[in-house]
Amino acid sequence: MGNAKDEGQEYNCLIDELTGIYNRQGFYEHTEKLLKENPNISFCLMYWNVRKFKVVNDLFGRESGDKVLKYLANSLKKEFGNVTASYGRFESDNFICCVPEEIIQKGKWVHLGDISFDAEGSEYHFYSCCGLYKIINRELTIANMVDRARVAMETVKNNYLKPYAWYEESMWGSMVEEQKMNSAFRKAIAENQFKVYYQPLCRATDGIITGAEALVRWEKPGEGLVSPGKFIPVFEKNGLISVLDRYVWSEVCRFQKKRLDQGLEVVPVSINVSRVEFYNPNLCEDIRNIVQKYDIPTDLIKIEITESAYADDPTLVQEAVRKLHEYGFVVLMDDFGSGYSSLNTLKDLPIDVLKIDMKFMDSFDKNQKAAVILEAVIRMAKWMKLRTVAEGVETKKEWEYLRSMECDVVQGYYFYRPMPEADFEKLLNQTGIKYVDNDKDIPELDDVILDAFSHGNSKESMIFYSMLGGMGMLEMTEDNLEIIQANRGYYEVIYGNEKDFSGFSKTMNRQLRESDKAVLMEKCIAAKDTDEMQYAQIHFLREDGKYIWLSAKIRYIGSRGKRSLFYLAIDNIDDIKKAEQDKYLLDYSAALVKAFDKVYRMDYDTGMVEVLHSGEASMKVKEMYYFRNFFEKFHNNIDWGDQKNAVKIINNKELLDKELQESKNGSYSVHYKVIKSEINIREVSALFFKVELQNGREEYLCCIKVDRAKA
Ligand code: C2E
Ligand code: CA
Ligand code: CA
Repeated sequence: MGNAKDEGQEYNCLIDELTGIYNRQGFYEHTEKLLKENPNISFCLMYWNVRKFKVVNDLFGRESGDKVLKYLANSLKKEFGNVTASYGRFESDNFICCVPEEIIQKGKWVHLGDISFDAEGSEYHFYSCCGLYKIINRELTIANMVDRARVAMETVKNNYLKPYAWYEESMWGSMVEEQKMNSAFRKAIAENQFKVYYQPLCRATDGIITGAEALVRWEKPGEGLVSPGKFIPVFEKNGLISVLDRYVWSEVCRFQKKRLDQGLEVVPVSINVSRVEFYNPNLCEDIRNIVQKYDIPTDLIKIEITESAYADDPTLVQEAVRKLHEYGFVVLMDDFGSGYSSLNTLKDLPIDVLKIDMKFMDSFDKNQKAAVILEAVIRMAKWMKLRTVAEGVETKKEWEYLRSMECDVVQGYYFYRPMPEADFEKLLNQTGIKYVDNDKDIPELDDVILDAFSHGNSKESMIFYSMLGGMGMLEMTEDNLEIIQANRGYYEVIYGNEKDFSGFSKTMNRQLRESDKAVLMEKCIAAKDTDEMQYAQIHFLREDGKYIWLSAKIRYIGSRGKRSLFYLAIDNIDDIKKAEQDKYLLDYSAALVKAFDKVYRMDYDTGMVEVLHSGEASMKVKEMYYFRNFFEKFHNNIDWGDQKNAVKIINNKELLDKELQESKNGSYSVHYKVIKSEINIREVSALFFKVELQNGREEYLCCIKVDRAKA
């Protein structure tokens, strides 16, 4: 049915040369006939599009691209060539079929669009997506029906998890809306229906205006004000955004020029650059040319680049930022935190200002975590020489919080809403508004800071940092000390290798124990005063309550205002420290052994005694015994005299502690007789006491003296 080659004449104009199936016109004509001839069959349209087809062409060349298209055409031919159906290829990688609904319901068609082909000896797989439209109204033109299937396909084009979608009436509405917008665009530009609104930016400390952001609005005749959220995505799809953006930039420059010429107060205005602009190689030149055309200083225009643009294509954005800097513009990263970029990625993107996404403000009240992240971002930004703007500030409380965190600039409804040019002018003309711009002239900090923040970015720095072991950054304020950033090695030193650190929040170690803090803080002050490396040994409290010994090296990096930053390098010296302690104990017990026969260390956690010293050859130093059942085992052979409770006390740490406390000299002594036989009776004196080591560790010692004379 679908094979048109036999019909001779038709061949040239209705057949797609490459694949040999119908072209658009051929499909239209053939399908019309198909529907007329089969009034009782319910048909569906399938619109196929090869995902990432451009990649095939770019990567493997046109020939391979052609192979892919032929492959898909053949699949369709095989599947539908012998049924009441039609199929064809439209421009490029778009294929369309009209098949009985029955076939669709059977569901075997889903993988028709999976393509595999060989190139350079390897097999590659490509997938297609599909839009489905059930033909209900046969009055529509075929082209119209096809449009519906295409609209359905577009909804899954970028969704790899969904291979196909059925057409729904609402999809049509939005497509018509888009088409209307597109056709209204030229007129709108020509008639100045697009208006630039200005939303002031304020200095966080006092709310003084430091600049503004230009935000576009569409004053549509008869429809009122349309917000950019409605039309920008549409114009980004079809490329009209580049016309609109240039219009807005020009409007802003015109405004600035007008005020300059009138000798009025001006503030820098930031303009938005759509994410799709970065594919335009002339972007930066275009901006520069507009600014030059209006003859205004470059620092009156700042440039907002949205984080999503960077996610789309980091290298293009990097290149653009570099150029914009070269031309003298300040560049802001907009919507920071809305996507995937982290502060580390900013190392490669030399922007000047971080605009923190509104969502942090949204969840500010409800979500404690958002506040913690917000704070960390602002703090880190400071150290990276980035100024910070917080968007979407709506309440006084939010403002105060941001101010306390030393965020530089705030923007939001609490201060001003976006306003028409005339209102903005009135505002600027009011007295008392003094413009302060401090996006430039930030004191330079050692570049090592940037390096330090960039660990994990490159293989080299990864190796470097893992070689260094545990590294962190300490930030000291007047009364506080916090670890604001740490590498993986830092966690490994403290927690060992067994743990998965990926989920660790950067702030987990903020709760330094007060005494740990005191030790470190003293060293930080010394490091700052002397500018020399400082060393410390700290008995550090882990989050899980365990103590470990760390050696710390501290080096001063720099200060800004009340804040100072330090490198912290740590090593785990737990083993060394424990050995030191043990040596102390051994020395100590060696002295005791002069008065006693044996010295044991009692470990109440494990219920073991460890032999520290022994006068008997049969009992070696470091040997361990269970002591809890020791006395019980020989119970029948021991005469406790009037100290009947002794076993209970010795076996129980709390009871023993009580005895130790109540005694005059901090010890507990027991005298008992071990009756081995009628003639073998030993009198034993046991002395229990505690030794406190430097680290606060306590050891219970048990010293035994056996009086053989009485045997
Ligand atoms: P954006 O760049 O993140 O702009 C900030 C948006 O937040 C603006 O929405 C602004 O009106 C709104 N806003 C400001 N303060 C508050 C607040 O306190 N609370 C809340 N809820 N919202 C606040 P708008 O004007 O609707 O713009 C939306 C987006 O459209 C902008 O987001 C920007 O991405 C884009 N856009 C606006 N104008 C242009 C333009 O001329 N060119 C391009 N390419 N994009 C633009
Ligand atoms: Ca913006
Ligand atoms: Ca934003």
